[in-house]
Parts: sequence; C-alpha cells; structure tokens
Amino acid sequence: MGLIPDEIISQVLDRCDIVETISEYLSLKKAGRNFKACCPFHHEKTPSFVVNRDKQIFHCFGCGAGGNVISFVMQHDRIDFPTALRQLAQRAGIIIPETHSEAGSKTKSIRETVFKSNELAADFFHNILLTGDKGADQAKEYLKKRGVRLETAQKLKIGFAPDGWENLISFLRSKEISLLEMEKSGLVVSKERGEGFYDRFRNRVIFPIFDIRCRCVGFGARAMEENATAKYINSPETPVYVKGEHLYGFYLSKNAVAKEDYVVVVEGYMDFLTPFQEGFENIVASLGTALTTEQIRLIRRYTENIVMLFDGDDAGELAMLRSLDLLIEEGINVKVVSLEGKKDPDSFVREFGIEKFREQVLCADTLFDYKMNVLSRRYDKQTVEGKARISAEMLSTIQKFKNEVIKQEYVKKLAQRLGVSQNALLIELGKIKGSSSGEIEVVKKKAQKESIRGAERNLLRLLLEQEHMIPSVLAEVEIDDFQDDQVRPIIEQIFDLSKTQKDFNVAKLVHFFDDQETTHFISGLMASSDFESADKEVLKKDYINRIKNDRVKTQRKDLCFQIQQAEADGDHQRLEELKRVFNQLMKRS
Ligand SMILES: [Zn+2]
Repeated sequence: MGLIPDEIISQVLDRCDIVETISEYLSLKKAGRNFKACCPFHHEKTPSFVVNRDKQIFHCFGCGAGGNVISFVMQHDRIDFPTALRQLAQRAGIIIPETHSEAGSKTKSIRETVFKSNELAADFFHNILLTGDKGADQAKEYLKKRGVRLETAQKLKIGFAPDGWENLISFLRSKEISLLEMEKSGLVVSKERGEGFYDRFRNRVIFPIFDIRCRCVGFGARAMEENATAKYINSPETPVYVKGEHLYGFYLSKNAVAKEDYVVVVEGYMDFLTPFQEGFENIVASLGTALTTEQIRLIRRYTENIVMLFDGDDAGELAMLRSLDLLIEEGINVKVVSLEGKKDPDSFVREFGIEKFREQVLCADTLFDYKMNVLSRRYDKQTVEGKARISAEMLSTIQKFKNEVIKQEYVKKLAQRLGVSQNALLIELGKIKGSSSGEIEVVKKKAQKESIRGAERNLLRLLLEQEHMIPSVLAEVEIDDFQDDQVRPIIEQIFDLSKTQKDFNVAKLVHFFDDQETTHFISGLMASSDFESADKEVLKKDYINRIKNDRVKTQRKDLCFQIQQAEADGDHQRLEELKRVFNQLMKRS
C-alpha cells in the first residue's frame, strides 16, 4: 500500500462514515449503540452482522468477518485495497495524487489503451448483432438455433464480426485508436505480404471475455458453419490477456458463487451460457481443459468448493484427473460430474432441462470415487498388476491432501476397494516424494494459539475501547509481557501508532494489518466489548497484574527446564548462574 500516502487513508477513514457507506449496500437497523443487518458474507436468517459507528468498524458474529469501512468495501466488492480506497475516495471527493514510477505508468497506459480498444471493439461487434446489419442476421439466426435468447446475448455482450478485411479497423480508426494500438490489443493481424493490417475476426460470432472487474480482456470468435476449419479463433496473449488467467462469465456469476458456496466449472462458452441462461448462476467456464493455479486462486476468493463438469469423452481423462490434484494441493474441495450419455453441459441442458442438470451436479462424485471408477474401467482390479497401477495412481492423489486424517481415511477406503492391506498402502505412500512432513509442527502451533490468554485479550479490548488509556498502559507494560501470538503484534502496532499519530483510532489500526485473520480478530474483540458498567481503571490494573504474573510464571518454567538441563549436562557454572536468576525472579513475584 506504499503508493498511496497514509494521509489519504486517514482522510478516507475520516470522511466515509461506516454506517452511511454500509447502508448503501445493506439495510441497517439500529440496535442499541450498534446497527445490525443480515450478514452479506454468509447465509443467515437472524442478523449477526454488527456495525459500530463510534469505532467505525463492522463485525459478524456468525462468520467472523470484520474490519473498517475500507475492508468492508474490499470484502463486499471483492476488490483489492487500492481499488477500494479509490472508490471510497471518489465518493468522498478526495483526490488521490498519482505517484507511479515512470516505467509503471508507461505499462499502465499500454494496458489502458488495450482495455479501451477491447471495450470499443466489443461494443462495435455487439451493436452490429443487435441491429442485424452487415450480415448479422445469419448470426442472429445461428444463436437462435442454439437457444440463446436476446437478453442473454445482451448480458454477455455477444456480437458479430462482419465479413470483410477492415470493418473493425475503420471503426477503431474513427475512434482515434492507432493501428499499433489495435495490434497490441490483438484485434488486427499484419499482412503476410505487403504492408498493413486486416481484421482478425471475420464472419464470426463474438464472445467477449471480461475479467472479474468487468473489463474486456479478449475475445473468442466462433465460426457459424459446423465444418469450419477453425471452430474457434481466440485473442492472442496481450498486455491484459494471458491464457488461463481468467474465467469466462465469472464477473456475472461471482455473487451467486459466493452465495451458494460452490462453483460448477465447465469448459466452453456455450457450456457456461446455456445453464446460466436457465437460472443456474454459480457457474464459470475455464476456456481450457484443466484449471490453472491463477484460476483456482480467483475462485478461492469466493468459495473453496468446486464441482468440475467435463464433456463425457474419454480423451485425456486421466491427464485431466491428474490436473485435479492441483486443486487438492490448493486445499479445494473437488467433486466431479460426468453427465449422463456423455453429453456436454450445453446439449445436456437443452435436451433434459435445467432441473435434471442440477440433479446431476448435486450428486457429483468425490474426486476419490470418480478417479477410482475411471481407473477401474481402465485396469483390472482382480490382477496384481492392476492393483499396483490403481494404487499408484490413487496414492499420488491421496498424498496431496494436507490433512493427515483425510489421508488415512482415503488409504483405508482404498485398501477396502482393492482388497489389500492398509499397511502396504501406507508404506507405498511413504515412498512418494514430498509426502507428509511438518504435520506435528502445525498441530503444536495451533494448540499454542488456542490457549487463550484471557487477560491479554481483555486488556487489548479495553485499550481499543478506551483509547485514552493507551499512554498509561504503555507506561506500565512492555511488549515482551505479551505472550499471545494474536495479541502481541496488535499491541505492538498500537504502541507504535500512538507514538507517531495524534489521532489514533481503531479503524486506522485495522488498516495496518493486511491479513484478514488479524482484522477479524480485532473487529471481533471490539464487537463483543462490554465493559460498560465496570470500573475500567480497576479492570486495567487487574489485567496488567495478571499479564505480568503470567510472564513471570512462563519465565520460571523456562528456567526450571534450563536448570534441569544444566544439571543433566553437569554444567556447574551455568547451573549457578541460572539459580541466581531464578531467585531474583522469585523475589519479584
Ligand atoms: Zn457473516
């Protein structure tokens, strides 16, 4: 966030009232000192989403989401920090000075030109389709034949590129886009012989591809006759379009995906379009066979549950299945559907209807079962060799799970299905490189986190509520007094901020943490704050005492351990020194 001056962030936080801003998204009801609503981040019937105007923060007791006004806009609109800040600043009339480096601004302007050219081209193609000019009536006829309704074509901005070499070129020229810029956008192709360029897309139905922020990044162009040499021609890679980085239709389906908490991934434009048109909205198209890491990460911002839906053909089935291991590595829940009768989603929905489609999605196989079925068809489970092949394939998938319990469960299942011993499978699993390590470490760390140090959390909560207490607490404690992994960094930040900033407040504090875990932790503490009737000075003293005592106890435990070790080692000198420190510590408590 270095590029935007802190001063601007403060201004935004000061001027954009959280209650007013969130009211533009949700209807808030006053409840005591707070405002309440049903949480936009999880499904609920009774409101557990709380907005606190005093502290300018929000928190959901249901799902733990929370933060300040900027975090709300980020989480709600699924945009990054600078974008959310700009959006809020614009609303509040705050001007953000641009401080990009020279090189940065140059690539930015190329990207912007490409976006602009794409946008213009998309409009051009779309308008031609709507008016039916320049031979677009055949495209209209084609779409109608494939069951695409006009309102769907409008929603997806489907268009038509007329036949001819310079239709788009002359249109873009009239909009003052240079040939060089058109070439950068991949919209034109340079002539092989002689000079000049011609339109890349001709006499084809155009599917513009939009990114998640609804900017046009590229195009897919489909031939209308079934025996065309190339069914699809796509945009080449450009400064804004890298293959495998986008998901077709996601800008339209992302909210439905978040709401349903799963997404169906299909392959092609029409496989997306047909179910979507019939009201199945939590769907995207990968525009390729396997999902890339970038696409997975994009999806993950909305859900961790993916249902993969492939055309039923056998080609490359196993290769595709291996690519699904990537999803497991990313911690995604994967299920797989292959549609009855080996149909693609488009023809399936048109033939059997959307309800039947929904049914098939709902009874998707787990990746384990699906892969097991594919392998059982391929290899003979009864032979030794078949068992070895199947177990090797299955173990390579099982190995990818990060959770040991899940791994063991699958090994058990596999042993049953193949009629071999679990032990043998576990030995084989152990042979696979990169298999399980550091599991104990993780468990230990978690246990430590969960041992809640009540006094530390309570003191932090008190400080967040009673900001005027910060200097007096600061005088009495030191950072090392805090042992709670979650509390300590926050206290550290409060101390830093209170030294450098005069107008410290919680909303600003939240901004300094870019991990959601901490942000939600802070908002959670704040929202559950209830010191109203208690004497806060007494509480403060009590918490500080307990924290100090806790620290001494820990130090003592450490020392005891070290003393034991020195005794065991027969290190007398060290033993004397340790005992001296220990006695000092005893005097202090
Ligand atoms: Zn919630």
